[in-house]
Amino acid sequence: MTEHTPIHVIGGGLAGSEAAWQIASHGVPAVLHEMRPERMTDAHKTEGLAELVCSNSFRSDDWENNAVGLLHEEMRRAGSLILAAGDRHKLPAGGALAVDRDGFSAEVTARLSQHPLVTIERGEVAGLPPADWDSVIVATGPLTSPALSEAVKTLTGETELAFFDAIAPVVHLESIDQTIAWKQSRYDKAGPAGTGADYLNCPMSKDEYEAFIDALLAGEKTTFKDWEASTPYFDGCLPVEVMAERGRETLRFGPMKPVGLSDPRTGRRPYAVVQLRQDNALGTLWNMVGFQTKLKHAEQVRVFRMIPGLGDAEFARLGGLHRNTFLNSPKLLDSSLRLKAEPRLRFAGQITGVEGYVESAAIGLLAGRFAAWERKGEPLSPPPPTTALGALIAHITGGHLLDAGASAPSFQPMNINYGLLPPLDDAPTSGADGRRLKGKERGAEKKRIMSRRALRELEGWLAERARVDA
Ligand SMILES: Cc1cc2nc3c(=O)[nH]c(=O)nc-3n(C[C@H](O)[C@H](O)[C@H](O)COP(=O)(O)OP(=O)(O)OC[C@H]3O[C@@H](n4cnc5c(N)ncnc54)[C@H](O)[C@@H]3O)c2cc1C
Repeated sequence: MTEHTPIHVIGGGLAGSEAAWQIASHGVPAVLHEMRPERMTDAHKTEGLAELVCSNSFRSDDWENNAVGLLHEEMRRAGSLILAAGDRHKLPAGGALAVDRDGFSAEVTARLSQHPLVTIERGEVAGLPPADWDSVIVATGPLTSPALSEAVKTLTGETELAFFDAIAPVVHLESIDQTIAWKQSRYDKAGPAGTGADYLNCPMSKDEYEAFIDALLAGEKTTFKDWEASTPYFDGCLPVEVMAERGRETLRFGPMKPVGLSDPRTGRRPYAVVQLRQDNALGTLWNMVGFQTKLKHAEQVRVFRMIPGLGDAEFARLGGLHRNTFLNSPKLLDSSLRLKAEPRLRFAGQITGVEGYVESAAIGLLAGRFAAWERKGEPLSPPPPTTALGALIAHITGGHLLDAGASAPSFQPMNINYGLLPPLDDAPTSGADGRRLKGKERGAEKKRIMSRRALRELEGWLAERARVDA
């Protein structure tokens, strides 16, 4: 194979379009396969590449104070097509980057169609790619066509490709009140990788439990779309409020059972307990065990802050339940997004377990670069983990803690957030003006320092890559 042998990209969504652009920008031909309009998904309405299926927002564009804004800026600096088209078609939206969806999609389609190294082929790839496609990026998204997802399932195994994300909220550790929540595993069991004190436990009295159940039952919920409700993978991940509807005691015998736990403040077993389990290798994020939910986001914040110890909780991710298709990436993919079981296949976009338009495009950007570098015989160096791009890929390829011994993978899709970046060695105590910082101010200053560190280190990586590519 030579540099002139094309790399095939399956799926012309956010990730696939970005991947094809990056490949071509590195001087390697790309063939982009998109099944629309021949075959549509339940959510897409047009034949345009990079169609935004719902909101037209790429969220905050503030690189200094917001992790997704930082990701925007890093992608701009790395020559992203999706960000360039987004900037060109932006609409007034305060601090957010919102785009005219038709103009945006038309621009991505036109730039790819006009690129001499990109060929766009319309039609479904309805199974494993032909054997003579030696380098393939699968970027078919949350609504991957059934024929292809079945084929992927044969490679990965039945349980490693999920068709629903049942997301429990994830909380920043530093916002949990550990004068109330204490560390203990049920019956102090250490398990295969634990210490016997692996969970954070939030205790509830009877009155607190009753009030919490009332709030869960009364909380405003989102509804399933028809095609989501008919997806036959929903059993086994019941939302917490549905469990509460089945009986006021159901949760106390389910995810909120207090057995084997003793509150050090009272020396007694509480009436009920909410447990949080470490979610990332850095130990900065903790997920609420068994708390997948269809409560609306604002309701989740209100209701879950009723839990003792979570009164000031800051959520890195709120809960949800959606139709989705994604791999157990930390187990299946290597650090350059290749399927370990079949390395000619790389994955990109939401199917790798990132969440959102921007994150999907970001993983497309990296997959495209890796594939092009591999074709040219160059080293596949990922961005530093202190950058938003690096943190995102580190999370999906190894940052998430695999839950050894669990019946189903615990990996669930995630947006970019500061909890995925390595913490600072020294947290700031005073601001640029020398004034002593308190509480929230200190958190905000930390984000700014992490953002500046990220862009500095990204520049170093880009410069090094430019030297290798030259
Ligand atoms: C209903 C819904 C609403 C959403 N709302 C939002 C939102 O508001 N904001 C947000 O940030 N994210 C939202 N998301 C998530 C969003 O889909 C992703 O963030 C993003 O589109 C994923 O990018 P992707 O490139 O991985 O997949 P997509 O953008 O979906 O692209 C995948 C492409 O692959 C094509 N394809 C699938 N199978 C095949 C095949 N076998 N052969 C050839 N082509 C194929 C599809 O037609 C599609 O064009 C939503 C998702 C859904 C399902």
